[in-house]
Amino acid sequence: MSVCPCRSLDQNKLPFEECCQPFLEGKKGPSTAEALMRSRYTAYVVKNIHYIADTQVTVKDEVFDKEEALKWAESSEWLGLLVKIPKKVVSTTKRASLNLWPVIGTRKVELS
Ligand SMILES: [Zn+2]
Repeated sequence: MSVCPCRSLDQNKLPFEECCQPFLEGKKGPSTAEALMRSRYTAYVVKNIHYIADTQVTVKDEVFDKEEALKWAESSEWLGLLVKIPKKVVSTTKRASLNLWPVIGTRKVELS
């Protein structure tokens, strides 16, 4: 059993097979925003750039550069993902913001 890269900093260390692997292999789709962002983080760690491209939202005329994404994935040291879920959820909108912080080397980069 290997711990899923997105869970390496979690107390709840799920195995890769029970976490992001089914998404990355296209066996099922993530059902929550958190699962999607976790799987995209893991895709960078395992250098599954096709998954990143397939789950990328691009605005008009914007092109996802797979080669550049691969270079970035290969040149980064992926240390873990910190998920910050707000304690207060605004019930009127039934939406909660989700902050995910990939820890890469000694830097933190916010995904949006
Ligand atoms: Zn995972």
